Amino acid sequence: MYRLIITGFLFLLLPLSSFGQVRIRLFSAHDPGTAVFSVTGGIYEVNGFNGNTFEISPGEIILISKFNDRLAVKARNEKAVICDSVFFLQKTGNDSFTLRVNGIRQLYSGDLQCFRGLGTMLLINVCEIDPYISGVVRAEGGSGKNIEYFKTQAVIARTYIYKYYDKHITDRFNLCDNTHCQAFNGVTNDTIIVRAALETKGQVILGPDSALIISAFHSNCGGETSPSENVWLTNQTYLKKVTDPFCTASRNAKWQTAISLEEWTDYLKSAGYSGDEGNSSLLNFSQKTRLKDYKAGDFTMPLNQIRTDLKLRSTFFSLSVAADSVVFNGRGYGHGVGLCQEGAMVMAMKGFDYKQIIGFYYTGVFIADIKDAKAPEDPLALP
Ligand SMILES: [Zn+2]
Ligand SMILES: [Zn+2]
Repeated sequence: MYRLIITGFLFLLLPLSSFGQVRIRLFSAHDPGTAVFSVTGGIYEVNGFNGNTFEISPGEIILISKFNDRLAVKARNEKAVICDSVFFLQKTGNDSFTLRVNGIRQLYSGDLQCFRGLGTMLLINVCEIDPYISGVVRAEGGSGKNIEYFKTQAVIARTYIYKYYDKHITDRFNLCDNTHCQAFNGVTNDTIIVRAALETKGQVILGPDSALIISAFHSNCGGETSPSENVWLTNQTYLKKVTDPFCTASRNAKWQTAISLEEWTDYLKSAGYSGDEGNSSLLNFSQKTRLKDYKAGDFTMPLNQIRTDLKLRSTFFSLSVAADSVVFNGRGYGHGVGLCQEGAMVMAMKGFDYKQIIGFYYTGVFIADIKDAKAPEDPLALP
């Protein structure tokens, strides 16, 4: 623990630009019982178990399994060895491997470190920033094919890495590989995405105070993005309402769903509603522009709460009572804050570049090299 505290402290003292690598926890939504490591390119040095060190080449497989509080590691034609950790270190600088867990096989580059922690088997990939960004763009970026769109997502992903570099630091890694941090299903060879990461190398989004922004994004805003305070209660000058003419014909621009009137009134009553049940038209609600709360007579309730409870696609909906059902007509998909991905895709196709796209959705920001970002506040500093 002492060593971890020291490590965290050192990160704070380093300039952000010195973080050339990132430690990603792989398969973090799983509880891997066994992981199958296989070299696909270059040479890996395997070390850690009982002081043994040896090299493996493409095609060779190592099985790593949980064994009580330790790990069992088995190479082909060898007996399993019980140990506390096993590290796979790349040797040529152009090395790659696959990892198979619960039937899912994904491709990675860089090193792999396996040890027990958080009650499970931790698989930590030590990866260069740019291949990691390409992988995140593929996983989070959707189906847009224009390079300016992928550059936009690459700069957003890079901004996230540096802003949240210490998010999991007490767990001995930087970021996990699911949407709690950023989705990462391994590296990609998609040439447009790889180019997008390289051609924006080092670039991040800074707010007016030169600090890294919260680079929030969502699938479709429905024609108007949401100010951050509607969703997260925090007011950010760069996460303001933006009228978006680009996404309104896209796939996720509209949605509709219905529930029974009884279900809706039961839900409202559980939240404190005590209005006249005989007059169901009181429940009708309309949003021409995004609002923060649902209103029925004197009763109000945060739309964000309703979206979460009813698992709706967005908070940007109107509802009308028709006979014994309640019909929701909604716009957009996601929380609506920050960049609208489907709008950004259309902007890129219309010829806007990534800087224009980012400037459209994030108010008053600029793009700069990470070395020009203001370092985050040091939480250990004396007042
Ligand atoms: Zn995470
Ligand atoms: Zn939009």
